Amino acid sequence: MVYAGHQFGGFSPQLGDGRGLLLGEVKDNKNNLIDLHMKGVGPTPYARQGDGRAVLRSSIREYLASEAMYHLGVASTRALALFDSEEIIYREGAEPAAMLLRGACTHIRFGHFEYFFYQKKTKELDELIDYCIKRHFRSMASRTQSIIKMLEKIVESTAKMVAHWQAVGFQHGVMNTDNMSILGETLDYGPYGFMEAYDQKWVANESDYNARYAFEKQPAVALWNLNHLFVCFSKHLSKTQLIEILSRFEPCLINHFQALISAKLGLKEKHKDDLTLFSNLLVLLEKEKIDYTNFWRNLSQMQDADDKAHLILMFANRLDFEAWLASYIKRRSLEDSIWSQVRLEMLQTNPKYILRNYLAQRVIEAAENKDYRAFEALIKVLEAPFEEHEDCAHLAIPTNTEQKSFCVSCSS
Ligand code: AMP
Ligand code: MG
Repeated sequence: MVYAGHQFGGFSPQLGDGRGLLLGEVKDNKNNLIDLHMKGVGPTPYARQGDGRAVLRSSIREYLASEAMYHLGVASTRALALFDSEEIIYREGAEPAAMLLRGACTHIRFGHFEYFFYQKKTKELDELIDYCIKRHFRSMASRTQSIIKMLEKIVESTAKMVAHWQAVGFQHGVMNTDNMSILGETLDYGPYGFMEAYDQKWVANESDYNARYAFEKQPAVALWNLNHLFVCFSKHLSKTQLIEILSRFEPCLINHFQALISAKLGLKEKHKDDLTLFSNLLVLLEKEKIDYTNFWRNLSQMQDADDKAHLILMFANRLDFEAWLASYIKRRSLEDSIWSQVRLEMLQTNPKYILRNYLAQRVIEAAENKDYRAFEALIKVLEAPFEEHEDCAHLAIPTNTEQKSFCVSCSS
């Protein structure tokens, strides 16, 4: 596959599966066609200066993250198999190579449209559009209506995906337009991260010098990327039509985010002040650098309105948190739900386990020594992140200061 893309704001006219091969499509057990893609196969016609290979480190990182996201309920490509290798390849240093077999509903990215548009290849662009309409959006309407429907769906699925990232605390790290799937599946896991101590300005990717893809910027970046996709349709739809479709992004994202946050808080009804309740909490979490996942899990454990000692203990500034907790309990009392029932639902919404960077790094270091036991243990909890897994409770422990110095970059 060849595509283009806006990388960190600048346009690259030619990218592509420089180290990947699209092998074909298979039907899954629900009769859906799934693309199979092997990453790290060696140089392809689009490898440019690259060796076409992938290191074991990045292959394991993509495997773990895509499975973790899928089981957290976030739309994502999947990892089907990992092949390790005796071969050594060179990045900052010598490292073992590997290949990852990936499954995705599509590998078509925003950048595919940009590739033809900027070369003024109108015929090829139209062929791509018609293929997508037929294969992925199955619209029977007129061409213009089908394009509108397709773009509306892309806006909607992208908004839902990013809302979900913000709710679980996932940072993609490289939100270039060539890493954005037209079906809103999280695609291309590189220097990503899962939020630990809450920090909305957090940048997982060490190579992102301008903090372009910082956690708090992801929704705006997704809209920026959609804008660039929509430019490619400027010959097909009027500016007014394009702006109308794009304007759906923000309400759609906010709606989904609100629904996800309500579920995290154990609230069934929608109240106008719920987002404020949530953002007031984030201010406290950020001030005290409290682990995002563990806080939600502890909140979920509340048996009733008086069961709060374990939560208060998490905060140094107890007064502020107690004030927040009082407003939360008051809000809960507006609904006639039963604490024990809501507790069970919250425990199925707020995971105990996320993929912490230091855990991935431990797995990688063991695998580089041919030891996959840590991999097996970690994938087991990531595949059922809402379960307790008493014997693996250590995998829910936040990063300590020493582990924090470990960084991830684009090198893969
Ligand atoms: P990524 O950063 O993985 O999204 O890749 C960006 C672009 O660089 C894509 O076109 C990749 O196929 C290409 N690429 C990344 N790594 C390699 C490599 N080792 N060899 C060839 N092409 C690569
Ligand atoms: Mg990519």
